[in-house]
Amino acid sequence: MQDNIDLLGLRTKKVALFGVSFLGSRLLIRSSKMFDEITIVDYDIVGEENISYQELYTIEDIHLPKVLAASRRALQYAPLSRIYVINAEIPFYPFPPSELVESIIDWSDITITTFDSLLPRLTVQLACNKLNKPLIDVALGSQDAEIRTWYRRDKACIGCYIAGFEKLPSRTVYASDPRIADLASDVTTIYIEKILSGRDVPSVTKIDVNLEVKTRDDARDKTCTICATEVQTLLGSFKPWDKIGRTIKLKRGEDIVELRGNESASFLKYLERFGYNEEK
Ligand SMILES: [Zn+2]
Repeated sequence: MQDNIDLLGLRTKKVALFGVSFLGSRLLIRSSKMFDEITIVDYDIVGEENISYQELYTIEDIHLPKVLAASRRALQYAPLSRIYVINAEIPFYPFPPSELVESIIDWSDITITTFDSLLPRLTVQLACNKLNKPLIDVALGSQDAEIRTWYRRDKACIGCYIAGFEKLPSRTVYASDPRIADLASDVTTIYIEKILSGRDVPSVTKIDVNLEVKTRDDARDKTCTICATEVQTLLGSFKPWDKIGRTIKLKRGEDIVELRGNESASFLKYLERFGYNEEK
């Protein structure tokens, strides 16, 4: 039997939402009705192409920062909630989280990432690993959606699915099926509530073009360098979110990668795993 939902207890939990576009704007509407305090982070401005596809934005909002337009509109539906807006670009993996990112994650009880590109989502995941905070990552394709959760160390993180250096995947989607985005937002909102009340959720949920929802549970990939707590690299032992600290040239066959020292140790370890070695 399902426990009762403690809606009042839930209200005091703090939510950090990275990205307020196609999915993020939908998640903001839903979560602003459930939570007293939400921090939203984005650096984009509202463009004509965002109107009608992305919830919350109207013609008057064009050229405004999305965080500003989204919070203004969401507060009309949920005037008692507090929405903190951060109009900033966050670092892209292989760069580690900035102090700003870490302070947002530290403040929050749960984090949701919805950026189109996987790379800033990985950087947020590194911060969640460092601070041991749960994460829900929602990715939207043109005809499907995928929700990945990370709230327990034995379960797969969003980095556990990256297959190889050649394809650090990213999806840039302008026109998706809004019904898929709606359903993905509803499922995500249920997962937020479940994780915050200590209940289990699947590590991967896929929604297909027929709005069918399929879930599965994956264990952590032991070679993943994003959710590791310690990585042994050729420069020594690091936490995955640490900067490597010095310039290094790596070689694999003809391929040379130069790291300047401000990349994360997770990335150096990742390259080593795929056969990159220091060029002597
Ligand atoms: Zn992982």
